[in-house]
Amino acid sequence: MRPRPFVVLLAAAAVAAGCSSADPSPETADTTAAPMTTTAPAAPTTAAAATTTTTTTTSTTTVPPSALTGIGDQAGLGDSLYPDLGNGGYDVAHYTLELTFDPATDVLTGIATIDAAATIELDVFNLDFIGFEILDLTVDEQPADFSRAGRELTIEPSMPIPAGEAFTARIEYTGTPAPIPSRALSFQVGWRTATDGTSYVVSEPDGAASWFPANDHPLDKATFTFRVTVPTPLLAVANGVLTDTITDIGATTRVYEMDQPMPTYLTTVVIGDLDVVDDPAGSAAAGVPIRNVLPPVVATDLPPALGEQGDMVAFLESVYGPYPFDLYGIAVVPEFPAALENSTLSIFGDGFVSSPLFEFVLVHELAHQWFGDHITPADWGDIWLNEGFATYAEWLWLEHTEGPAALDQITAGTREQLALAALPPPGIPPPDDLFNASVYRWGGLTLHALRLEIGDDAFFTTLRTYVARYGGSTARTEDFIAVAEEIAGRPVDDVFDAWLYGETIPEL
Ligand SMILES: [Zn+2]
Repeated sequence: MRPRPFVVLLAAAAVAAGCSSADPSPETADTTAAPMTTTAPAAPTTAAAATTTTTTTTSTTTVPPSALTGIGDQAGLGDSLYPDLGNGGYDVAHYTLELTFDPATDVLTGIATIDAAATIELDVFNLDFIGFEILDLTVDEQPADFSRAGRELTIEPSMPIPAGEAFTARIEYTGTPAPIPSRALSFQVGWRTATDGTSYVVSEPDGAASWFPANDHPLDKATFTFRVTVPTPLLAVANGVLTDTITDIGATTRVYEMDQPMPTYLTTVVIGDLDVVDDPAGSAAAGVPIRNVLPPVVATDLPPALGEQGDMVAFLESVYGPYPFDLYGIAVVPEFPAALENSTLSIFGDGFVSSPLFEFVLVHELAHQWFGDHITPADWGDIWLNEGFATYAEWLWLEHTEGPAALDQITAGTREQLALAALPPPGIPPPDDLFNASVYRWGGLTLHALRLEIGDDAFFTTLRTYVARYGGSTARTEDFIAVAEEIAGRPVDDVFDAWLYGETIPEL
């Protein structure tokens, strides 16, 4: 028997709205947390994000134009909320991360080989990197000088790199990885190690620098190879497809290839006493392999909702178009009151598996594989393009499984609740509370308002066209609006102006 989603989801919204600054995000809803007293979020400090048009990505290129043209400077890409994230002047094509981690000592030794192309002539260039001792650093096999300040690693190649030239930076480093403060959240991001020794990475939005040198902004998506060595019999899993397993005395190296462009914030490794559990029936339904990475206690008593993942993939494909990656699944980890849509391997805190919300959070993180992972926001100010879409996917699943009346109920109930909450509109997220409840539920209602305005045919064609056009690349809010107007054949910007930037939530 299914839970009553209306009550359950509204309860989740209440939790999220009440503790947005203490709780990483609603998808992240800690199922054990009691609702907190509602507090008004910080006043938006980035109104410019709503009205300033920066880069409009109109082509289908998989290389973001702003990265190529060197917008921003060496120490930042000029994000509307976090201008110092990422680095200008080059475009990364591929990261190879060779990582050796021993939980007994907590020492991570890494070699990051970064294949990139200069977009301007580079006397120096920056990577985002925090902690660790750098043992060796070369550019095109020549030793390079470097300096460090905060999260900026500044590298001076022995010779300037001409504009347009490819180059390879290789950084060898060692140290004890640790989570780092996030400017967007009240909790730490990046590499985490639980008390039982399980390590995992949750980096959205600014935590990738805690475990490898990165151009840590979603504008610079790249492909990845992970070679992860851990003591046998521990398991190490990363994004992408397992292509090789090399056993040595006391240690096992696993190689994962992520062949589709991925933003740094969605990179992950999970290391621990874990089982890979294949789902043959789900894989058949999904048309791609589904494998989950589970603690033995979960693997031996699978939660029923996990068995619905194949049907969820098939349903979302029917709405958005083909699933964008080579495989899917989740990893269940301890001491994480959240879930995060790392590409091909979403991470779930173990509190979810017994929660009545589990089914809907599974849909939410799966939908992010299209919205966030495949199409990535070019600016963090457009986070509703991730969270509003993933929240609406939960409601589409509800409509699919419970019928149209359930959708009407959840949308009306959510709107009523949001009208009573003091939240910023979803198009103006506060930098220090990026994942506030508005970008989820008010953002989801924005899509529903568009659907009511232009009708089901145009709405679902808009979604599929947007995915087909921007998949593999990045997009901004105005790109989505342009697709909606193209499909509807008339202006709909008034819908978005009211729903994304208005101070009060409109009537549906
Ligand atoms: Zn989400």
